[in-house]
Amino acid sequence: MAIHSGIDLKHCLKHCLVRIPGLELRENEPLSRHTSFGIGGPADLLVIPSTPAALCAALAATYDAGISPVLLGNGTNLIVRDGGIRGVVVRIADEMAEIRFDGTRATVEAGASLASVCLQCARRGLSGLEFAAGIPGTIGGALIMNAGAYGGEMGDIAEWVEVAGTDGEIRRLEHADLSFGYRQTTLRMLGEAVVRAGLGLREGDPAEIHARLCDTMAMRCAKQPVSSPSAGSIFKRPEGDYAGRLLESAGAKGLCVGRAAVSRKHANFVVNLGGASASDVIRLIEATRELVYERSGVWLEPEVCVIGED
Ligand SMILES: Cc1cc2nc3c(=O)[nH]c(=O)nc-3n(C[C@H](O)[C@H](O)[C@H](O)COP(=O)(O)OP(=O)(O)OC[C@H]3O[C@@H](n4cnc5c(N)ncnc54)[C@H](O)[C@@H]3O)c2cc1C
Repeated sequence: MAIHSGIDLKHCLKHCLVRIPGLELRENEPLSRHTSFGIGGPADLLVIPSTPAALCAALAATYDAGISPVLLGNGTNLIVRDGGIRGVVVRIADEMAEIRFDGTRATVEAGASLASVCLQCARRGLSGLEFAAGIPGTIGGALIMNAGAYGGEMGDIAEWVEVAGTDGEIRRLEHADLSFGYRQTTLRMLGEAVVRAGLGLREGDPAEIHARLCDTMAMRCAKQPVSSPSAGSIFKRPEGDYAGRLLESAGAKGLCVGRAAVSRKHANFVVNLGGASASDVIRLIEATRELVYERSGVWLEPEVCVIGED
């Protein structure tokens, strides 16, 4: 069944998806509600699975209809353009977030937030995920981005990852099947949905782990504009330097386009002052990128993902 028009999408695919248990469907859903920037036009159809089985069935039906769905976690590393997304967005977040422990190993569904996994590990005296305190993404998004901070990254603790592709079948990839680099993984190139992951942790003292989580959070609060809507660091760290330092020395702090501004607290953060459009943010990012290039000859590479239509 190939679907080509918006009417087909609504009538055929929706008809198929509503019959799948454990799926919530929302039509013309503003993605500004699902991104940490609070920015983004509507998705034709937002699909929210609450179980891996529902996710796999939704993926199979969507691909079978000739549509490649856009995958979304907590939307904390994303800029969705103002025109939104024509087609299907599958949001894998706190509705699909089971966490199970077996000794020093955790099996975590992709929608679980790093925050809740961090806390549960700390309570059980399991160490290894403290670096992720304050990263607001899901396990799925964090694996795709190989999220990291303060010397740790997801690749250090991911023992295996289950993914689902176009046929909705789950397959398991072991750590040795994957490669993890700075904010990138081979998982991302596969373009498949992360369903579940196995994390390998170490025994530790709950009070010490909790103290490390608090220290990490305090460092973030001191250096980053954590209370303003943003998508975290805009640019990756260039070889041998820091994007924030280059942006600050180029005079980017405080620059604005519309209601988007370069944070005065940390120059590698763009914040939404309230009512910013994706176009404001993207124009500001391009302007600061050129400013850094003019001043230091470094062409910064974005860390945030930009998706959707103008
Ligand atoms: C205040 C703030 C601080 C931050 N600090 C850090 C930091 O210290 N270190 C860091 O690395 N990042 C940081 N980030 C960025 C962001 O939180 C991470 O990249 C996070 O891992 C993204 O997870 P997410 O669920 O929000 O993914 P999204 O933003 O929703 O998606 C990111 C990418 O992953 C894909 N994706 C999401 N879920 C899945 C899935 N289940 N299967 C397949 N693909 C999927 C999406 O298609 C997209 O390509 C920060 C962001 C903010 C707002």
